[in-house]
Amino acid sequence: MKSIKDIDKKYVMNTYNRYDLELVEGMGVNAYDVDGKEYVDLSAGIGVNCLGFCEMGWVASVTQQLCKLNHVSNLFYSQPNALLAKSLCERTGYDKVFFANSGAEANEGAIKLARKYSFDKYGEGRAKIITLVNSFHGRTMATLTATGQDVFHNYFFPFLGEFSYVEAGNIDAVKELVEKGDVCAVMLELVQGEGGVVPLDKNFVKSVRKLCDDKDVLMIIDEVQTGVGRTGKFLAQEHFGVKADVTTLAKGLGGGLPIGAVLASEKCSATLGFGAHGSTFGGNPIVCAGANYVLARMDEDFLYEAEQKGEYFQEKLAEIDGVEDVSGLGLMIGFKVKDTTSSDFVKEGIKRGLIMLTAKQKVRLLPPLTITYDEIDKALTIIKSMIEK
Ligand SMILES: *Cc1c(COP(=O)(O)O)cnc(C)c1O
Repeated sequence: MKSIKDIDKKYVMNTYNRYDLELVEGMGVNAYDVDGKEYVDLSAGIGVNCLGFCEMGWVASVTQQLCKLNHVSNLFYSQPNALLAKSLCERTGYDKVFFANSGAEANEGAIKLARKYSFDKYGEGRAKIITLVNSFHGRTMATLTATGQDVFHNYFFPFLGEFSYVEAGNIDAVKELVEKGDVCAVMLELVQGEGGVVPLDKNFVKSVRKLCDDKDVLMIIDEVQTGVGRTGKFLAQEHFGVKADVTTLAKGLGGGLPIGAVLASEKCSATLGFGAHGSTFGGNPIVCAGANYVLARMDEDFLYEAEQKGEYFQEKLAEIDGVEDVSGLGLMIGFKVKDTTSSDFVKEGIKRGLIMLTAKQKVRLLPPLTITYDEIDKALTIIKSMIEK
């Protein structure tokens, strides 16, 4: 029989440059490959498995729902869906939620919402959306257009019109664009994830908030990666002292199942009404049961712990000789390693039983938020040994 690697290469479109690793099982922060070798997982499936692999309570919630009602269309009411929307709103102070299936889809929803909000109030000619250089918002046509990185823009022309890109921190450039009167939204990540784990300047974010208020432009914060406790607060915007008009969530929300959410504040929560948007799978009961469990686990103590562990991890990394430019917030961490590329370092990590991610030139860590101090120390020991060789 051919190996899984060969079958994959032959039949799955080669859009991912996969590492030479096939995982078959996981428990908590540990994953196991086909040969039974153990790994410490600091990737959480790109920030998705926020409670680690197969957390028992999560598995129970999901399987209970699975055995009760696997899917129901959005033409009907469903308890896990309604209760998740309620918890999200109560948790964040938002007014209403739309459920999608991924980060890109959540951002698509936010883009549509912003354009309709402006059209309803001001008519045509106000469709422009400002995003940041070095941002990442997804791979669909609209979210790819929103993504301010040329590398993603090859081949796929023409893009949607009416997107402009501004350097993070350059409030004058945002102001200049907004003052032309054709802007309906500013969309940004608070810590640019794929862009290299780059936190934005707090004053810049606050200035954008004020500018948006003054000009009735919607502020959209893409918390697909930073949200749901990743930075040690439920939403990263709590660190920045702002609240967006629209916030998008995805990665960690389902604890390992595909879900996206668009959270809208009162001022724009009625913008998408009957027929204006929809999704067949969005808010599926099983996925919502997983997310409901995640939210129930993520109380104040849980978040405080995650924040503390993030600080500890970052401090200890910075103490290692050869580690440079440690950046991030909570358990969203980036760093460089002297004399090696991030991708070579990650490849070497896999050989040593450590799963990490890259974000441009940075090594990126998005461990399960449930990681323990002992597990962090174990990971640090491996990282140290890799640098000292
Ligand atoms: C991952 C990510 C997305 C895209 O999410 P998908 O689920 O892959 O569509 C969008 N925005 C940010 C900030 C992300 O990190």
